[in-house]
Amino acid sequence: MVVTRFAPSPTGYLHIGGLRTALFSYLWAKKNNGEFVLRIEDTDKARNSEEATQAILKAFEWLGLEHNGEITYQSQRDEVYAKYIKQLLDEGKAYKCYMSKEELTELRETQMANKERTKYNGKYRDFDGTPPEGAEPVIRIKAPLTGEILVKDGVKGDVSFQAQDILDDFVIARADGAPTYNFVVAIDDHLMGINEVIRGDDHLSNTPKQIVVYNALGWDLPKFYHVPMIHNSAGKKLSKRDGATDVMAYKEMGYTPEALLNFLVRLGWSYGDQEIFSMDEMENLFSPKDINKSASIYNTEKLDWLNAHYIKNTPNSELAELLTQYDLVLTSHDKKEILLDELKERAKTLKELATLTKEILTTPTSYDEKAVKKAFKGNAIEVINTFGAKLSACGDLHLPTDYHAIMEETITEMEVGFGKIGQPLRVALLGKMTGPGLDSVMAILGKEETMLRIANAITANS
Ligand code: GLU
Repeated sequence: MVVTRFAPSPTGYLHIGGLRTALFSYLWAKKNNGEFVLRIEDTDKARNSEEATQAILKAFEWLGLEHNGEITYQSQRDEVYAKYIKQLLDEGKAYKCYMSKEELTELRETQMANKERTKYNGKYRDFDGTPPEGAEPVIRIKAPLTGEILVKDGVKGDVSFQAQDILDDFVIARADGAPTYNFVVAIDDHLMGINEVIRGDDHLSNTPKQIVVYNALGWDLPKFYHVPMIHNSAGKKLSKRDGATDVMAYKEMGYTPEALLNFLVRLGWSYGDQEIFSMDEMENLFSPKDINKSASIYNTEKLDWLNAHYIKNTPNSELAELLTQYDLVLTSHDKKEILLDELKERAKTLKELATLTKEILTTPTSYDEKAVKKAFKGNAIEVINTFGAKLSACGDLHLPTDYHAIMEETITEMEVGFGKIGQPLRVALLGKMTGPGLDSVMAILGKEETMLRIANAITANS
């Protein structure tokens, strides 16, 4: 069974790059009827916070990415790690190093002065003497000091590291017993049964160290997929300004989970030239073997385009629910269908949809000056006044076409072109020259509100 994982360090919110690797891991587990598990890497007490953990979980909930089983918290597994540290010590695969901070600093400075790579010099590797008085040892693992460490990567192919260039006997437990990052990642990935590790390629350089731990414990390696970073349009690593923001900020900006996930799946992965993928399609088609070798480019227009697509295809009742986050209660509005049918074609985000809706539903209290100048020329007031009178004289009107017929009637009778009614009416109803189709606006507002707005505009602009 394929078991994948997402292993965030809760140092802040979940960002878009993290979410993408989580999505890839999730999809690959789904495709294989496997499991996707979540591990919170919260061992760094100074930098981790409970709020950050909760923020990450909230983002997962919003996006509907469910994980299997209980969440593993590294902060609760000290005993597990201690057991393997002891095992490695007992087997002579790790050892206590008593080197003082001063000694280490001196070693580093000498190496730097000689333009050598800074690394531990193995002083206590085979030590069997009496430890220095009062020294609290760290535990170091015996790493191979020569030879090749091969990372067989599912994205990058075979990546070969030379032990003498990158390794030393690195610390696996600090003086206070706290285990170190690469050690616990390897231990947990193995114990949690994770056999396919999909993560950002900023972790590729950690992988040889993790392989050292696997080898020391005689464990099989998982399959690794290191995913290239997401870049901005200038080809630089994505920064906050480009959108490397809190995933939940996308919710506030009015993106739907479907659009965001669809957007992310295409950052670094493709299936022919298909752009739109339902969740089911993603689950069926995604494979980490098809991840691009080069960085992908974050493109806001693409995200907006996808979001517009999903908004257009979301049933109105669902949209009405989603709009409640912008203090817009449409759920029982009797013209909800006409309103959303009209506006959802025009909005790139739910927030924009909310704004457009509020613009229609709010009676204008002022009128755009330029629009007034342009629209209220000649006999414009007379035209909309006539139109208003005709509305008043007829019975109930419901459909956009009902209103359209009366507009037609008015212009025929007054022998003017359509612009002569359209422009002033638009300004009267919306306060400005832009906006959705007038017939629909009137059908949404209803006869009374339409007449009221016409009368207000006439008073204000005569
Ligand atoms: N905790 C690491 C991070 O948040 C990820 C570790 C991994 O995927 O191996 O960057």
